[in-house]
Amino acid sequence: MPETKRLYYDDAYLTEFDADVVEAREHEGRPAVVLDRTAFYPESGGQPWDTGTLGGAAVVAVLDLEDGAILHILDRAIAGGRVRGLVDRPARFDHMQQHTGQHVLSQAFWEVLKGETRSFHLGPEVSTLEIGLAAAADPDLDRVEDRANAVVWEDRVVKTYYVPEERIGEVPLRRPPKKQGLLRVVEVDGFDYSACGGTHVRRTGEIGLVRLGPAEKIRGNLRFDFLCGGRALRDYRQKDRSARKLAGTFSCAAAGVAAQVEKLGAEHKALKKRARKLEERLAAFEAGEVIRSAPGRVISAVLEDRTPDEARFLALNVIKGGEFAVAYGAPGEGQGHLIAARSDTFKADLRGLVPVVAAVVPVKGGGGPSLIELVFPDKQRLREAVDAAAAWLRENT
Ligand SMILES: [Zn+2]
Repeated sequence: MPETKRLYYDDAYLTEFDADVVEAREHEGRPAVVLDRTAFYPESGGQPWDTGTLGGAAVVAVLDLEDGAILHILDRAIAGGRVRGLVDRPARFDHMQQHTGQHVLSQAFWEVLKGETRSFHLGPEVSTLEIGLAAAADPDLDRVEDRANAVVWEDRVVKTYYVPEERIGEVPLRRPPKKQGLLRVVEVDGFDYSACGGTHVRRTGEIGLVRLGPAEKIRGNLRFDFLCGGRALRDYRQKDRSARKLAGTFSCAAAGVAAQVEKLGAEHKALKKRARKLEERLAAFEAGEVIRSAPGRVISAVLEDRTPDEARFLALNVIKGGEFAVAYGAPGEGQGHLIAARSDTFKADLRGLVPVVAAVVPVKGGGGPSLIELVFPDKQRLREAVDAAAAWLRENT
């Protein structure tokens, strides 16, 4: 198959072109074409393919074939002959910003921390850069980010030229080339030299901003998220809005939000502990009331306004306070709970109660001889379940 002429090599800003279809085929069940020339970038070197249209059909993927031909995979078949290609311009420019930003960031990592770039991936939301460093402190990462942005603001020219393989030693490449033959060198004027086939901006100023994100440890290296240009702006806008909203809620400056949230978390923890203590005291007090008005040794009720935890706590306090057997129903989150408990003086095994209740309402759960807890999907039938349990307790205790 003839090699496809790569128009993006000479002009990364070209997004409209005409070309001839030189072959039409199928690729995994979809129509696909090879053109004599194309401005569509095929997925390679960590940069995703371009999208757009070809002869009116949507370009869903662009692949680099081994013989130098580029395959455009389409959503529908197109007529052969001359076709017009339209590359999605905002998406292409976004890729150019991220990709050129990566060159600058990679060289900044090398210059400042001697961190080598191991891999790069341009993702749909964030891009990642794997750097050969085992650890890095925030002030060091700030220096890397500052250096990268200084190079962006110097608005250096990004040059592209070709060097034969045998003379590539004269170019101070950041990484040894992966390809052979005539090598395409992308130079961020006097700062970074890379052998690269990707699409780049003309001047570093177009990168706008380089923002280094969080890192994770991987294969003994650090893999950083990073954002450039429009992505960095959108990220800043979104974070600034949330920070301002939170600051308004706390009536503090945006920078003080983290401290406020920490304080609130500590207060919440202390309050939960205090609430638990009060619940315990209340349950002990309530158990006294329940015992005083008990109709007999079996006490049963549906506690509509209690959580299952509160009902269990009350039941345990009642059986501690005297010779009683208790059946309480409490509505849980979407489910009904039945708690049955008895004093140690009664010998009945409460597990015998489970099939009796199950005959009335379908239940799950179980327990031990002196305490069981059953759950059933229909909260409306709490009363029936409690009555069945109470009847069993009266017969068996
Ligand atoms: Zn590149």
